[in-house]
Amino acid sequence: MPAKKATSRQPARELLFGNLWEYDPAPESAPAFIDAKYNLFINGKWTTPKSRKHFDSISPRNEEKLSEIAHAGLSDVDAAYQAASKAFTSWSKLPPADRGKYLFRIARLLQDRAREFAVAETLDGGKPIKESRDFDVPMAAAHFFYHAGWADKLPYLAPGRRVEPLGVVGQVIPWNFPLLMLAWKIAPALAAGNTVVLKPAETTSITALKFASILQEADLPPGVVNIVTGARETGAAVVTHPLAAKIAFTGSTAVGKWIQHTLAGSGKKLTLELGGKAANIIFDDAPLDQAVEGIINGIFFNQGHVCCAGSRLLVQESIAETVLAKLKVRLKSLRTGDPMDKNTDVGAINSKPQLDKIRALVQSGIDDGAEIHQAPWSLPNKGFYFAPTLFSGVTMSQRIAQEEIFGPVLSILTFRTPEEAVEKANNTPYGLSAGIWTDKGSRILKMATELKAGVVWANTYNKFDPTSPFGGFKESGFGREGGKQGLLDYTTLA
Ligand code: NAD
Repeated sequence: MPAKKATSRQPARELLFGNLWEYDPAPESAPAFIDAKYNLFINGKWTTPKSRKHFDSISPRNEEKLSEIAHAGLSDVDAAYQAASKAFTSWSKLPPADRGKYLFRIARLLQDRAREFAVAETLDGGKPIKESRDFDVPMAAAHFFYHAGWADKLPYLAPGRRVEPLGVVGQVIPWNFPLLMLAWKIAPALAAGNTVVLKPAETTSITALKFASILQEADLPPGVVNIVTGARETGAAVVTHPLAAKIAFTGSTAVGKWIQHTLAGSGKKLTLELGGKAANIIFDDAPLDQAVEGIINGIFFNQGHVCCAGSRLLVQESIAETVLAKLKVRLKSLRTGDPMDKNTDVGAINSKPQLDKIRALVQSGIDDGAEIHQAPWSLPNKGFYFAPTLFSGVTMSQRIAQEEIFGPVLSILTFRTPEEAVEKANNTPYGLSAGIWTDKGSRILKMATELKAGVVWANTYNKFDPTSPFGGFKESGFGREGGKQGLLDYTTLA
């Protein structure tokens, strides 16, 4: 069926909600490097969950089953903490340079097996293979390399103080960057001398479990890293376990608030990396073609499943029409579809519930009177897909300007003065990131101090580096990951 154009305010329903084209990616069985069934990784060994329960992990690319994942209950989580606690005694006393060697070895093994990790990440999570290959896996390895270098230099984190590990750290991660979030959490924890119990998200556990096999190859002592899988109850068991000295959580603001509330008064250290609704601010003196690329990358990278996504475009009124026209042209060239195709720009939405959430918020934008723009692309009819979407004529009170959509949907607002841009950018409960596009260095410096955002990019967007601390203000959480600040959050100073 030929694709229809989204020219009116109310586009054809099929265009909004999928399945225009009779394209059916050939169903494939999972590759040999994804096991048919995964148990829990506790004390260096694969362990059957006490309940003997597993759940299916499907690929959002085509809804095919990839593997069965173990469901960890309270006693399994307890076994993981007991193992981590026992391992802490010797791991924390290991000569720091030796800890560094383990991290270095892990980084090298990740590089050696980069291809299989990239494919597993794309099949399990739905992100384009070019992103898994060129971003997620190399960046995960880079975090282990970076922290390998820190392991024997911890005294330089706080000269004159004794830098000590915390003990066992419980870590819970989301589904948008499964391997990378694991690296952000495990690498600094181990470099500082802690041991770990980590729970990946239930829709994307496979690369964390494959990572366990890297730990075995690296001969990491048993119990130093334990990986337990499951959903919300398993996560709750990880964060409330009495042996946890610190909880590091990345996920939604709602769950982050529950964790903060639950742990209040427990004495556990807590870092929270939560949601965002970042403003990407474009001034009329910006290099427009570069800015347009920055806007596209800022919102469509990883299907917009990015906590720091530039999901609100604030564009100066005098250039708003020009920028919208350029964005509409660029939208047409974005390839949306099978994430295993190396030319795909926007892959599959991670899960059916996430797709439903995106659809509901997009519908609210239409109902609230914003103008929707989508390119006439056809979407695969199996799997979870959503067409890249722009909304113009958005006002601050609309849900699409306030709530985190966590999908390939950009809300476009305008401003006249830098003051108005700052006010609109800060007018959200979140405070994770922002972008500024302008020719004036002085404006960048001034605005960077006024924006309530943990990360501010200037004339670029979504640039990450292990040396650079990442984290938020307000309802985006607290604590940092990456850089010296991130490592300090895994230590105590005596
Ligand atoms: P989520 O909060 O639903 O789940 C995150 C993780 O927490 C999953 O592993 C889940 O199983 C677990 N979990 C759920 N309920 C729990 C509970 N009561 N106790 C303990 N663990 C629990 O979030 P999500 O939908 O997986 O991830 C998307 C969210 O994560 C978005 O809001 C996004 O902005 C945020 N995120 C933030 C960052 C950041 O660095 N700030 C990075 C990535 C994602």
